[in-house]
Amino acid sequence: MTRARTSNHKADILAIDDTPENLALLSQMLTEKGYKVRSVTKGSTALRGAKAAPPDLILLDVKMPQMNGYEVCQELKADDRTRNIPVIFISALGDVFDKVKAFQAGGVDYITKPFQVEEVLARLDTHLTIRNLQLQLQAQNIHLQQEIAKKTAAEDKFAKAFRACPNPIAIATVLEGRFVEVNDSFLHMSGYSEAAVVGEQIDRIYSSCALEVYKYALKKSQSRGFVRNQELEFRSKSGQVKNVLLSLELIQLGETQCTLQIMNDITERKRLENEFISLVSHELRTPMTSTIGALDLLNTGQLGTLSDRGKQILQVAIRNIERLIRLVNDILDLERIKSGKIAIEPVDCHLDRLLVQAVETMQPMAERARVELQLESLAVKLKIDPDCILQTLTNLLSNAIKFSEPRAKVWLKAAIEGDRCLLQVKDTGRGIPANKLHSIFERFQQVDASDSRGKGGTGLGLAICRHIVERHDGQIWVESRLGEGSTFYVSLPLV
Ligand code: ADP
Repeated sequence: MTRARTSNHKADILAIDDTPENLALLSQMLTEKGYKVRSVTKGSTALRGAKAAPPDLILLDVKMPQMNGYEVCQELKADDRTRNIPVIFISALGDVFDKVKAFQAGGVDYITKPFQVEEVLARLDTHLTIRNLQLQLQAQNIHLQQEIAKKTAAEDKFAKAFRACPNPIAIATVLEGRFVEVNDSFLHMSGYSEAAVVGEQIDRIYSSCALEVYKYALKKSQSRGFVRNQELEFRSKSGQVKNVLLSLELIQLGETQCTLQIMNDITERKRLENEFISLVSHELRTPMTSTIGALDLLNTGQLGTLSDRGKQILQVAIRNIERLIRLVNDILDLERIKSGKIAIEPVDCHLDRLLVQAVETMQPMAERARVELQLESLAVKLKIDPDCILQTLTNLLSNAIKFSEPRAKVWLKAAIEGDRCLLQVKDTGRGIPANKLHSIFERFQQVDASDSRGKGGTGLGLAICRHIVERHDGQIWVESRLGEGSTFYVSLPLV
């Protein structure tokens, strides 16, 4: 409603008085003070002028022939274009001036003739200020209403998307880690009721492994604002394992910083993938076993002597087929452990004997790589499946050796920490980048694509380790610094 002022006048005043001398006086007085004054002697002319170009304030004589001041004022107040213009009545001393009627007609004030310059200016100034403040308030109100409308529309959109989204979505506070809101898809996937989730701590709903991924994603999003597609395993209320890709974004809910967790349930995709992989693996195993048999036969020289070049090519073929067999075996191992086909049978075990066995198993590989194995053993009894834990330790040792330089040391240590036994495999090798510390425990995840070709790995060892350790109610994780080395930890419950 604020009108753009084209000149640099203080304000635009419309003065209406049937006495031209009065008008001339008023006009001169106000013009000198920097106001722009339009003077009219008739009410009807004033109304037309006010409607065509609304002034900032009107000075209106009460006593005029034809239309008196009250009538003019009433008409001004009846029209949208002029309703809000402040009207100050002018009455002559001795005139019959009805103040109540003036205010009822919509006047904001009155002044009496003969004018006292200071008084007229002071009143004018006051009402212009009030009018300006009113206009500012109106403009701010309109702006606020527009903002509120925009916000409400955005919230409405978000609320609808949140509710209707087929992806599970959860919102939780950053500080306390409590769920604030979850959508139906989340409840469907998790199997919990809304009442069981909202207000609950995240670690009561997420498994420890999933929680690790969540914490990692949270840390990342605090520096980047968001994180996309971190794979985790979500355990539903009934214990079903769901494969989930978690995308995390930080949002502000009032004063509280929250995480917006959008999930993609890829369980079915993974199941089909696994089914396909294990099917292919089974089909590959038989021809591969007979191929390695044939290659071995060639290698013994029983079928004739090979040229040196032939022997070289044969060695490459044997190395590759061995890697393929390892891959297929690892795939089948992982599938059997995951599906529970390999039973974990915990028995009372002397840990120190198991550690020695692990070191002895890896000694030949360490020697070939010229890496020194160091054991810091611990005489403690654990209830574990010895074959499976041995497989885990040899796998970790094999990686530590693989990624160390010649003459480096690799440590296998055991210690008691509270009610748990903590095993460590430490190396001073090339280290693992921070963004891979979680993903390497997933299937086929390697820091570098060349790790399988160059180091003969399959990308499945750590996934197998993780499943074995989790089946023991344990945890496995890694701490690492690029270029300085890595330490893999396995924490197992003490009996
Ligand atoms: P792989 O058969 O490739 O070794 P794993 O699942 O055992 O498969 O390991 C996955 C990847 O993790 C490796 O390919 C390597 O990139 C990284 N990795 C594992 N252990 C270490 C380690 N001690 N030092 C550096 N990188 C490692």
